[in-house]
Amino acid sequence: MRHALLLLAFHLVCIACSRPTDTPAAVYDVLIVGGTVVIDGYLAPVEIDVAIVGDRVVSIGHFPGATAHRTIDATGMLVVPGFIDTHNHGDDGGARPDFLRQGVTTIVVGNCGGSASIRTLARHYDELEGTLGVNYVGLIGHNQLRRDIRFTGERPSDEQMQEMKRLVAQGMEAGAFGMSTGLTYHPGFNAETEELVELARVVAGHGGVYASHIRNEGPRVLEAVAEAIRIGRESGCRVQISHAKVAGPGAWGLAGEYLALVDAANAQGVVVCMDQYPYTASQTGIGALFPLWARDNRSAAAEAQRRAELERDVAELLAGRGGAERVFLSRGPFAGRFLSDIAASLDKDPVAVLIDDIGVGGGSAVYHMMLEDDLRELMAHPYQMIASDGPTNTHPRGHGTFPRFWGRYVRELEMFDHADAVRRTSTLAAEQFRLFEQHRARIAPGWFADIVIFDPATIADGATFEEPTTPPQGVRQVLVNGVVALDDGEPTGLLAGRVLRHGTTTAGSGP
Ligand SMILES: [Zn+2]
Repeated sequence: MRHALLLLAFHLVCIACSRPTDTPAAVYDVLIVGGTVVIDGYLAPVEIDVAIVGDRVVSIGHFPGATAHRTIDATGMLVVPGFIDTHNHGDDGGARPDFLRQGVTTIVVGNCGGSASIRTLARHYDELEGTLGVNYVGLIGHNQLRRDIRFTGERPSDEQMQEMKRLVAQGMEAGAFGMSTGLTYHPGFNAETEELVELARVVAGHGGVYASHIRNEGPRVLEAVAEAIRIGRESGCRVQISHAKVAGPGAWGLAGEYLALVDAANAQGVVVCMDQYPYTASQTGIGALFPLWARDNRSAAAEAQRRAELERDVAELLAGRGGAERVFLSRGPFAGRFLSDIAASLDKDPVAVLIDDIGVGGGSAVYHMMLEDDLRELMAHPYQMIASDGPTNTHPRGHGTFPRFWGRYVRELEMFDHADAVRRTSTLAAEQFRLFEQHRARIAPGWFADIVIFDPATIADGATFEEPTTPPQGVRQVLVNGVVALDDGEPTGLLAGRVLRHGTTTAGSGP
């Protein structure tokens, strides 16, 4: 696939180069001049200008004498395809200034098993049109799928299975790009692998992706990766492992074995990619510190009866996340404090605080439970993409992910050259989610003008764990479908995003 892409891209560049002056009298809507352009992540940067009419790039090259309604001087800037956030929970849509400020032009939502109802997905997509700041790519959430048929148990009946398969097909026909699972969440954690394979076969039949918040990201992470790969192999789906991590003392150091499984699968023809946020802390509901049997709200009575067992299980899960001093409450009655401090001030054991004072649904926490070495080892893998797992105002990833990647890992640590970094922030995502077929994620004639212009020397995240909503620096302009949606680092308020629908191909309108 890559060779074909390279040839295509070279071809496009040559078209532009052979027509260096274009039409002298041409008037464009937007001209981006003086910048260094990365056409896509397989091509070295080139110093060319970009001409846009309407929602498309119409020409790349040099256009002396041409005029435009808006000329953007990109001297010293990188001009690259807009970032694609492959793991996002912004299902409700909206203007999304938090993502525009990071250079994101497309978000993939419906992740971790959560999405709008599959029964009404088509209507949900229709209703979002005209309200979006960034493009919107939806997935079918498996937990929602089970809720749609009111099934939370372990093994569905044949009838329930048929109904779920019918709904998956309906969701794919509505334009979803695949199905996601959230196998640590209710009711998805009750699902057996066989159920997921069978549903994923329907997804594969429509050319979709299987994206998974895998069953375990701690000591049993390798089993969980193997399960995701098995689902890909047996169903024929491409696999996206969401927010890849090896979390907690029992998993530290497993990144190498994790990636060996991914490599072996790809070598056997099962496409397995990953995405990752560039932080060593995760964030999720405090329920992650409670055993599965206690996470179902209906089992509150059982919880009271099984106090000793609950205490033991919570203690084990807390230890697995590295202990109370690694748990920072981000939502709920004790927001803004570490669990260890809360326990000390209440003069109680942290386990008792969790059970009595917070409760299974009583808040969210940031868990400082990953090692930077593991993070970098996972990040360096050629099939790793960058994704925020946002939106969130309580973890810096919601406002800092993409500028942090470009500032810290690309510029400061020099882990990736600019083309490779573009590959990880857009090209790979476009391959995995088939956005190339929709003429997205490449700066070339006929392709949609989703573009970010930023200063590679200053781009940086501003958000921290203490101040998680501080905006990033260095991102100058963002164009979404040819519209300047961010200008001088500030959102313009123009809602140029669109719901992208899987299975539709868009004819190019190039020269
Ligand atoms: Zn997740």
